[in-house]
Amino acid sequence: MLGEGILKGLAETAKNFAGSYVSKERLTTVQYPEERVAPIEATRNFPFLVYDGEDAFAGLRCVSCQICEKECPPKCIYIEKSKDKKPDYVGKPQNYPVRFDIDISVCMSCQICVEVCPFEAIKMDTVFELATDDRFGGLLLDREKLSKSNEYYHTIHPTEATEVDARLAEEKAKVEAKAKAAAEAAAAKAAAAPPAPPAAKPEAPKPTGGAE
Ligand code: SF4
Ligand code: SF4
Repeated sequence: MLGEGILKGLAETAKNFAGSYVSKERLTTVQYPEERVAPIEATRNFPFLVYDGEDAFAGLRCVSCQICEKECPPKCIYIEKSKDKKPDYVGKPQNYPVRFDIDISVCMSCQICVEVCPFEAIKMDTVFELATDDRFGGLLLDREKLSKSNEYYHTIHPTEATEVDARLAEEKAKVEAKAKAAAEAAAAKAAAAPPAPPAAKPEAPKPTGGAE
């Protein structure tokens, strides 16, 4: 029925308004900022970069592929790729972002960067108290400000972060199994190879003729 959704929404509002006089559960507003409601798991505001372990640089998952930079609709991501490489979570040498900036005054929280990232390296944060009176760079977040630990990711999106961990662990196990199989095959090939022929003996020096 046309307008059914609007009527349902109005009914819910009316129920909360009347119910708030008798039930605390129906009181859907709080006295912010003294009171705060914990954000629900699906909350998303602006992106952040995930790193594993203790070291924000060594554990940074981003490999600087720049897909998110290309796909971001308002073009608010800026990346500079490294010339050298560092190992990723499976030990494969990968580039990393020497510079990774997001202008969150332009970001529209669409989450496209998260959807296109093949490395589970960028996720949506839930922070919202970011207002600043610095109009010139105050909302331009650099790699250091954007980097947050996997533990933090687990605190804000526990279900999603657990799924991501399981996926990465599965990929890592596959890579390790492949490397082990390759090493075993190489060892078997070396064992099956025929022994090398003995090295030829050096020719004995010819006796020199005596005095006649
Ligand atoms: S959330 Fe959207 S607008 Fe913001 S950085 Fe990601 S792709 Fe760009
Ligand atoms: S965040 Fe993801 S998509 Fe963006 S550059 Fe890093 S690895 Fe690539």
